[in-house]
Amino acid sequence: MSYDKQKKQITIKIIPHVDGKLISFKISKFLFKSIITFLLTILLVSSLGFLFYYNQNSKSVKIINNLKHVKYKNEELKNKLHILSKESQKLKAEFKEIQDTNQEIKRLINYDSDNTQVNKKTSVGSDIDSRPTIANQNYQLNLGKNNNQIVNNTENRLAELKALLPKKKIELKELKDSVIKYKDYLAAKPTGWPLKAKEKRITSYFGYRTHPVTGERTIHEGLDIGVWYGTKVYATGAGRITHSGWKGGYGKAVIIDHGYGLKTIYAHNRRLNVRVGDKVKRGDIIAYSGNSGRSTGPHLHYEITINGKPIDPLPYIK
Ligand SMILES: [Zn+2]
Repeated sequence: MSYDKQKKQITIKIIPHVDGKLISFKISKFLFKSIITFLLTILLVSSLGFLFYYNQNSKSVKIINNLKHVKYKNEELKNKLHILSKESQKLKAEFKEIQDTNQEIKRLINYDSDNTQVNKKTSVGSDIDSRPTIANQNYQLNLGKNNNQIVNNTENRLAELKALLPKKKIELKELKDSVIKYKDYLAAKPTGWPLKAKEKRITSYFGYRTHPVTGERTIHEGLDIGVWYGTKVYATGAGRITHSGWKGGYGKAVIIDHGYGLKTIYAHNRRLNVRVGDKVKRGDIIAYSGNSGRSTGPHLHYEITINGKPIDPLPYIK
């Protein structure tokens, strides 16, 4: 073998650890380099392939995990929304109750339904109407906020409303009771003239005077209204008849107990139209005027007492 040929070759020896023949072969340097280059290329390509596959795979796992999380969150939101929907329905029913009470109060005070300006400012029901509904809130909040926040905000608002409701309900109930009581009081309170006749005049006012019969200086405990015999006498407020008959100097007299410590006395009548225990309302005919008892001419003596003490009836008439 020539030196040049030897220079282009290399010897590969495989030496066994135990027994055996030493394997020795010669290959050209070029072939050896070619084999090494080929093997390295294979290794590089497969490594790159593996890295690419691994990267893609981990991305998919991440996406799947994300989807799972989103699905879970969606389920959670769905459940929360279901609960909120139920809660809001309950609240709606309770608000309806409040609105009904409100309507009843309006009816009790003969509320003018044409006056919409006042309606918007004072009515509880309208306040509720003007508030954004839960659905509206969602639409408003949807702009730039995530669903979780919407649910949380709605939850908080519902909780606030829920806490407010029992107090409002009690307040309205109390208001309604007060209105009913006040209406009763207004119906009972002596108001206006006990006579509707046009030809009437006050002949003697409430207060100290020289008595027309006895000549003594005494207090006159009512109003004397001069009218002709047989003029209709009306109850000036709702109440119960506690006296209907002869009463000393009063002659034929009617007494109405209006409650609230208020009583009215109608004296010197010719004929009486009610009996003890009768219930009357303002405007009912209770007697016909006359000149009975200690009286110098046909007139009605009209008296109002508060807890048994006579007061000037004039402010109650006008
Ligand atoms: Zn009198």
